[in-house]
Amino acid sequence: MQSFAYAAPETVEQAIAVLQEHSQAGKPVQILAGGTDLLVQIRVVDSSARTIVDVKKLPETNRLEIGTSEIYVGAAIPAAALTANAELKARLPGLVEAIDLIGSTQIQGRASLGGNLCNASPAGDTIPALLVNRGRCQIAGPDGTRELPVEEFVTGVGTNALGEGELLLGISFPTPATGTADAYLRFIPRSEMDIAVAGAGVSVTLDENGTCTTARVAIGAVAPTALLVTAAADALMGTPLDDEALAAAGAACTAASSPISDKRGTADYRRKVVAVLCKRAAAIAAERARGSY
Ligand SMILES: Cc1cc2nc3c(=O)[nH]c(=O)nc-3n(C[C@H](O)[C@H](O)[C@H](O)COP(=O)(O)OP(=O)(O)OC[C@H]3O[C@@H](n4cnc5c(N)ncnc54)[C@H](O)[C@@H]3O)c2cc1C
Repeated sequence: MQSFAYAAPETVEQAIAVLQEHSQAGKPVQILAGGTDLLVQIRVVDSSARTIVDVKKLPETNRLEIGTSEIYVGAAIPAAALTANAELKARLPGLVEAIDLIGSTQIQGRASLGGNLCNASPAGDTIPALLVNRGRCQIAGPDGTRELPVEEFVTGVGTNALGEGELLLGISFPTPATGTADAYLRFIPRSEMDIAVAGAGVSVTLDENGTCTTARVAIGAVAPTALLVTAAADALMGTPLDDEALAAAGAACTAASSPISDKRGTADYRRKVVAVLCKRAAAIAAERARGSY
């Protein structure tokens, strides 16, 4: 059995110092938040020794702020704390429903939004919801802090844009205005505890007449990374989100997807399912947006 060094810094500076010291010395080092991906990977994929840097004790990764113009969600806050927050749920219901889909009650007690994003699984449930809500990654590193849109953060299957010595502090979002709402849906072959066959997140803004003035659509589990589908958003904007517009948005999601076939479903099946999920998520987001007036 391998032995692992463990550090639990209490400041961002300390965390970066440990990460950088190891990176510069060529010693393996890895960040731990809830560990619900990492510990499985250590057991099943790569059990080689490394230093684990726990980021759960940092104030910046545990901060949750819901302001009038901006929402900040610390990267290491457990899913259970986020789904229990009524204000966050009222502001970003689609993001919270995506978080709520992660694992079981036990997993929810540890799993974090930051971990889901950094793990960069094509089927990570929160990533489409982060994309449609214009999430911006707040990153700390040896050269200070930087900000990166979520669409530039995930770079491939299991890879992200973090450099040596960097960590994700949290994700910020513009606070949705009246008339704006989101929704996220996924399909899995069983009722829970499975990986998405396809997922779709939608955010829409409706004016007082019910016309869609802004839309963002993102799909998951149907390409190497979750994708923003601009053509689907274009199909929704300027419409009352009627059946014709929803069908066009769904078709755009099918066209944008490049899924694999596996035991959960064929590529052809995934292309069809993602269109259905887009239509349904858009209808739910629209209903929520109408209810916000
Ligand atoms: C039984 C089970 C069911 C699951 N169900 C789902 C599901 O339905 N949907 C879904 O999307 N996922 C699911 N997952 C996967 C996992 O729970 C989620 O991806 C979770 O959000 C990961 O968060 P974490 O805090 O546990 O991450 P960790 O395991 O701690 O970290 C994951 C990765 O991100 C890195 N990392 C974490 N935090 C940071 C940070 N702040 N800065 C930089 N790097 C960081 C780690 O180094 C690691 O590479 C499931 C896992 C299990 C075991």
